[in-house]
Amino acid sequence: MADLTFAALRRDGEAFMEALSREQQLALAGHKPNADLRPIYERFAHVLGPAALELTRDAFRTTTPNTDDWRSARALLDWEVESFASRQLVELDERLIAWEATAVIHLADGRDVAYQRAAVEMATETNREERLALDDARAALVERELAPMRAERLQRERDLIESLDIAPDYIASFEVLSGIDLRALAAECERFLRETESMWADVHGDAVRRQLGIKPGQATRADALALLRAPRFDPYFPAREMEPAVRRQVSAMGVDPDANGRIIYDLARRPGKRSRAFCAPVRIPREVYLVLLPHGGATDYRTLLHELGHALHFGYMRDDLPFEFRWLGDNSITEGFAMLFDHLLHDGGWLLRYSALGKTRVAEYRRAAAFEELQFLRRYCAKLLYELRLYGGGDSWSSLPDAYVEILSGATNFQYRPADAFVDVDPRFYSARYLRAWQLQAGVRETLVAKFDEDWYRNPSAGPWMLSELFGEGQRELASELAERIGAPALSFDPVIRAIETGLSA
Ligand SMILES: [Zn+2]
Repeated sequence: MADLTFAALRRDGEAFMEALSREQQLALAGHKPNADLRPIYERFAHVLGPAALELTRDAFRTTTPNTDDWRSARALLDWEVESFASRQLVELDERLIAWEATAVIHLADGRDVAYQRAAVEMATETNREERLALDDARAALVERELAPMRAERLQRERDLIESLDIAPDYIASFEVLSGIDLRALAAECERFLRETESMWADVHGDAVRRQLGIKPGQATRADALALLRAPRFDPYFPAREMEPAVRRQVSAMGVDPDANGRIIYDLARRPGKRSRAFCAPVRIPREVYLVLLPHGGATDYRTLLHELGHALHFGYMRDDLPFEFRWLGDNSITEGFAMLFDHLLHDGGWLLRYSALGKTRVAEYRRAAAFEELQFLRRYCAKLLYELRLYGGGDSWSSLPDAYVEILSGATNFQYRPADAFVDVDPRFYSARYLRAWQLQAGVRETLVAKFDEDWYRNPSAGPWMLSELFGEGQRELASELAERIGAPALSFDPVIRAIETGLSA
């Protein structure tokens, strides 16, 4: 394919992504027994082949920085690089998927638990000794079988990316391709951890003593799973009301929740349909599926709102944007819009209007939600700091598990295990995208409040502004550039901290 052009790459690239997305949607929604992806990869091999990688690498090197052509080349090159590595690692990935699907944890009392059920079992196990015994057995299995495969994958992926010569090393290559300054973000994470340290020590100690009946220093990550489950609010988030409630809210904001038929809500019960809600953009912006099986409960509402944010983003993108600004680019943006919607569950006014909590329980729920938020953020900040150590080259691979335990336990006050050091890692710094998304949603929310008041989510002027200023632009910009364009302050954790403080003192 020596004659591959940008126009052909965009055309076939879009056809490829549509085919992949449709196949996944059909399988996950239960229309097909499984996704048959290999024939699609074969049919479109030229889209992600060496010629395409060469074409996009040359384009990125020769176009003028900060122009739209350069952004196009960066997004396409980032995609090519990721696919290049995935292609070489496909056999290892298949082994990993097969292992995870079939691995069984054998407990000392003779019980067997499927590896994939372990997190749910630990979260719902009320007997602490049983919970810790399950985690001991899980960690031993992971250390013996999964961790070596995951460590191999991390090392091979790093070597593959470095072999492409995009920048001197893995971290610098990611920074060039993503436009995210990881060291600067890490410094912000360190500041966030310092500034919320005493706040976290207070609420963590209190929750561990009250809800688990142990000393704060004894709590482990398995205990955290149980602590954060908080099923006591679930009756106030009824399954029946879920979809109508969010539809009512989006309509009140002046936005058609169906996007004139482009967003398709699939609520039907069907054998083989995945139970967790998901958004499948099959043709952007013309055919976007929001697939869910409403069970009710706060977590289900949060997942629906999150996926709805993605669906509105995809369904309202301008259709004249080139392929790469609709399908590729900085995922901090789409994750930021998804989080903007799932964070409505922190808003007292929203909860009063669209949940069944009622005045007496809203404050207690908000404090619990802010506690969970602070735990997750401190964990993600620590993950990024650890992942920079992992790829930084300054530590030997054998010393990384100790670094992992020290960083993650230090940030969360829950004791982590060395066995998870190569398993609890987001590929290609996805943790950085989430952290930027957290900053973006908090900045966008403050901008919405300033423009459209506290109840912006039901102000009929807010929706049209969001469609044109936020969703319409797809992922043409970086999250930081989007914040600047809409007049929000530069991305930082400051509005995130303000929101958490408000929630904790509700
Ligand atoms: Zn998401």
